[in-house]
Amino acid sequence: MAGRRRKPKLAVWKFASCDGCQLTLLDCEDELLAIAGEFEIAYFLEASRAVVAGPYDLSLVEGSITTPEEVERIREIRRQSRVLVAMGACATAGGIQALRNFADIGEFKRAVYATPEYVRTLEHSLPASAYVPVDFELPGCPPSRVQVLDLLDAFLHGRRPRIPGHSLCIDCKRQGIVCVMVAEGIPCLGPVTRTGCGALCPRYRRGCYGCFGPMETPNTESLSAWFTHRSGLAPERLMPLYRSFNAAASAFQEASARYATPDQARQATETFWARAFAKRENPDGGEQAPADDQG
Ligand code: SF4
Ligand code: SF4
Repeated sequence: MAGRRRKPKLAVWKFASCDGCQLTLLDCEDELLAIAGEFEIAYFLEASRAVVAGPYDLSLVEGSITTPEEVERIREIRRQSRVLVAMGACATAGGIQALRNFADIGEFKRAVYATPEYVRTLEHSLPASAYVPVDFELPGCPPSRVQVLDLLDAFLHGRRPRIPGHSLCIDCKRQGIVCVMVAEGIPCLGPVTRTGCGALCPRYRRGCYGCFGPMETPNTESLSAWFTHRSGLAPERLMPLYRSFNAAASAFQEASARYATPDQARQATETFWARAFAKRENPDGGEQAPADDQG
């Protein structure tokens, strides 16, 4: 009689983070028994103190790398893991704590801690991929439980996870949600943000905050021009829109740098519209025109 196959060993690791991604996994209440049936839960301190030594077949990494010790730890985890997945905005883009990347970390330490010289930290908050090869990145702050389950299923069946790269707008339209930007002029990052949340914020009449990071081909210039010229957003409000959970994701980082000061924001949007109108006058001129409707 053939012996029972060995269950793959699953490890879940925490770095600089709020634990929300790990909680998303624990939130899969109806599926937890099935997960425990398919995987040996070898390391998951949020769920159990029991620890099984590595190596591990699948490591899920939550959180960004912010200290010298964490650099060593992620390298050791990589050595111990057959497949390593970065899970969530912190692990894939540095998280909200990557706001330090745009400022002086020494100033933050002095403002927060009575004895800042005791704090040993890196200047930047970076994703796992800045230090080790990562096999797959699961976006979101936090990722959706559907996508977490799909990732585990994909691992078991040796296929790629089904994580769409299109914008949130497509799912918003599919669900028949009235566009808050077109109908009410509310700034919404949906046109440049990867889908995954089920259009949670637009469903409740709020603009998207960009939790799932940039979609595959984000046109942040066009969207920002719309925000100022069509929604009446003050230029100084452009930069903070892009600096939140995915501030250090490259497309959002570039966008926020473009609008770093009100003057830069005004100039960038004026240049965009000048190029767009020139293109309208001369369609063969080679410049890209803005979409007629971002929503
Ligand atoms: S990605 Fe969001 S939910 Fe996950 S640990 Fe970071 S802050 Fe928390
Ligand atoms: S811009 Fe409109 S359609 Fe797109 S995500 Fe926002 S509310 Fe939805």
